Amino acid sequence: MTAVRYSGMVKENTMRFHSFLIKYGEIGIKGKNRYMFEDALVRQIRFALRGVDGNFLVHKCHGRVYVDCEGEYDYEETVESLKRVFGIVGICPVVRVAVAEIGQLRKDVVSYMEQMYPDKNLTFKVEARRANKRYPMNSMEINCELGEAILDAFPETKVDVHNPDVKLNVEIREEVYIYSEIIPGPGGMPVGTNGSAMLLLSGGIDSPVAGYMIAKRGVEIEAVYFHAPPYTSERAKEKVVDLARLVSKYAGPIKLHVVNFTDIQLYIYEKCPHEELTIIMRRYMMRIAEQFAVKDGCLGLITGESIGQVASQTMQSLAATNAVCTLPVYRPLIGFDKREIVEISEKIDTYEVSIQPFEDCCTIFVAKHPVTKPSVERMEKSEQNLAEKIDELVKTAVDTAEIIMVGQDD
Ligand code: ATP
Ligand code: MG
Repeated sequence: MTAVRYSGMVKENTMRFHSFLIKYGEIGIKGKNRYMFEDALVRQIRFALRGVDGNFLVHKCHGRVYVDCEGEYDYEETVESLKRVFGIVGICPVVRVAVAEIGQLRKDVVSYMEQMYPDKNLTFKVEARRANKRYPMNSMEINCELGEAILDAFPETKVDVHNPDVKLNVEIREEVYIYSEIIPGPGGMPVGTNGSAMLLLSGGIDSPVAGYMIAKRGVEIEAVYFHAPPYTSERAKEKVVDLARLVSKYAGPIKLHVVNFTDIQLYIYEKCPHEELTIIMRRYMMRIAEQFAVKDGCLGLITGESIGQVASQTMQSLAATNAVCTLPVYRPLIGFDKREIVEISEKIDTYEVSIQPFEDCCTIFVAKHPVTKPSVERMEKSEQNLAEKIDELVKTAVDTAEIIMVGQDD
């Protein structure tokens, strides 16, 4: 790493940061888990930054994760990308300067404060850490020197060691790291630390949010979308790919299975009571999704269902849908109101795409008065009408599914 003196690099009085110190929650990540957690975090940070303008070195050092930015880079875009990496609790922009005798260090922190805080009516505390033990002063002595330097340069500042407005961290390593701001990260766990699950992704508002929420717990996401050409258009499918891409900004690359559901839907339409269509269709979606999940080693299914939202999501309907699955079905939105779901979808930027008006494969065959209290027995009985062809239709649907890798190269 080359030492860079920031004073010469400041442009038009905007602070130039050379690194980001990444803070992460440490609860429950002792020993072996800690390495797994940190390695996954480093991997996800690299993934998040791969499309950002700049040259980044992401590395672990003494139980910390840093992003070093070599040369020019887009600060805003970098921070925005880091804010999408689960596991990050805080992002600290760092100014790096060369290790130097204390006189120079005094100038460096004064210069940092000068640029960072135009209004000097503030209280502060210096917190020096000496990882490089060859430095000839201890942390306490450095604190005193640098505190004094700031007070001398800006008489309107005050020291407050208990509750300062600004906690100025000065870490002496192979270079000196100066930072004081913490930009909040999304929290959660790095994707890849908690297995994988199969998301039933429709073009609606809910399922992308459900995928986001489970990915936030460190779970890798695959997805399956059922379409019904020509009843649903190519554009409806593209919308789902767009949604998967938006979710992948948080969740990492997503393997999306696009299943042609038309023949199954028509067959159910022909053979089963129309008011039961939605539930029976949903049961077949779950069965097919589970086949893909098992094949790829996913440990669960994810849906965007929430109790009572529509007829197919009453407690009875959910039970009828659930009954066909062996894997656990995760429904992170189960207790959420639509308003709360919309809020998250706006925050994660999927809302605008979700509300684009393209037909959904379920709405096309939907009955005027769908059952709201389907029993598992009644569904099983109706499904007996499908005995002749359904296995073959399901097999064809599975075998002909199109696989799209989303978020890998874009
Ligand atoms: P969403 O906003 O996620 O579409 P919704 O309010 O439209 O949800 P439903 O259409 O009843 O609710 O769907 C419930 C859940 O079933 C969805 O959240 C999704 O997980 C799954 N699902 C529905 N339709 C499809 C589809 N065509 N492909 C994949 N999954 C689907
Ligand atoms: Mg839907």
